[in-house]
Amino acid sequence: MPYERANIQNLSAYTPGEQPQSGERIIKLNTNENPYPPIAPVMEAIRNLPGESLRKYPSPAAMNFRKTAAHVHGVGIDQIIATNGGDELLRLAISVFCDPSAATTGVGGIGVVEPSYSLYPVLAAAHDTPVTRVPLNADYSLPDDLEKRMLDAGVAMVMLVNPHAPSGALIPLSRLDKLASALQGQAVLLIDEAYVDFATHDCLPLVRKESGLDNVLLLRTMSKGYSLAGLRFGYGIGSANLIAAMDKARDSYNTDALSQAAATAAVANRALAAESWKKVIAERSRMTKELTKRGWHVFPSQTNFILTVPPTALSGDAKVPAARTIYESLKARNILVRYFDHEGLRDKLRITIGTPEENDAVLGALDQLATK
Ligand SMILES: *Cc1c(COP(=O)(O)O)cnc(C)c1O
Repeated sequence: MPYERANIQNLSAYTPGEQPQSGERIIKLNTNENPYPPIAPVMEAIRNLPGESLRKYPSPAAMNFRKTAAHVHGVGIDQIIATNGGDELLRLAISVFCDPSAATTGVGGIGVVEPSYSLYPVLAAAHDTPVTRVPLNADYSLPDDLEKRMLDAGVAMVMLVNPHAPSGALIPLSRLDKLASALQGQAVLLIDEAYVDFATHDCLPLVRKESGLDNVLLLRTMSKGYSLAGLRFGYGIGSANLIAAMDKARDSYNTDALSQAAATAAVANRALAAESWKKVIAERSRMTKELTKRGWHVFPSQTNFILTVPPTALSGDAKVPAARTIYESLKARNILVRYFDHEGLRDKLRITIGTPEENDAVLGALDQLATK
């Protein structure tokens, strides 16, 4: 007899991108890691951590980190919460803001747009929280009736990723302001800014007191911009009422002393990390230009990846989807990219921006495939 709840029995777990074990030389452009190493002050903070800091419990609320992040972003300390990766913030937000009886009443679940980060519905299913799904427009912009559909469904929280994954599109601030205002008093708007370091603007104005909004929560992570996916550190920036609610429900020591020290050094030295963001953005433009020249469609991106559609001719066989053929041929050459083939993402490749050498290897491999 299974001991777990029925919703857990029925749950299909999140499928992360492939993580090959070291050995073979692999060009890994499938999970949006930053190709450059963590900045020097982060490595120093890790090396210099006194043993005493590990003997004792860490600061329960990651106080140094919160002070530093609040200063960098120009918000109050009571507007920051530190979490074990951005993913913990997502889970915490669902357990704090969604209604446990939503499975029977249908009211108080989450709302998502599609396509989007596939972890949201998995976390919702683990909480037995219903999911209202609204398809994005063909260019991955938000539909005009989004707020009406979310309010009609009675969701407790709308979860959006901006800049959008996996398309790279950036929603204008005015559009999100309108959405947050419509939801205010009824639902939280969680804006997942995992890729914001590569974008032209962020949504910080929506969490400042002057915005007049009290329902906006931003997700930030060390995993993409700061080259620290292995550290597992993320944080939320939001209005103080939302942060206080989540602070009550989190694990008492949810982030450890080592990651607190490293993450504090990372945000304190944001300008150093920004040098890698500039390089990634320059390579993003170059890859967009080079692929377009070769007949590919590349969606405009404000992230460290590009969503692409290869020319059909490249499959060589009309019956085989072009992107899948290319995904497999690149994999055979030890180059990993992400392949999608579902509603809203038919036969598309998502390619993380790597170093200039890695990107050249991709272009070289594609040119070989094209002449075969
Ligand atoms: C990477 C990512 C996150 C956060 O990842 P963590 O490694 O858990 O911090 C959140 N949302 C999206 C869309 C992401 O791509």
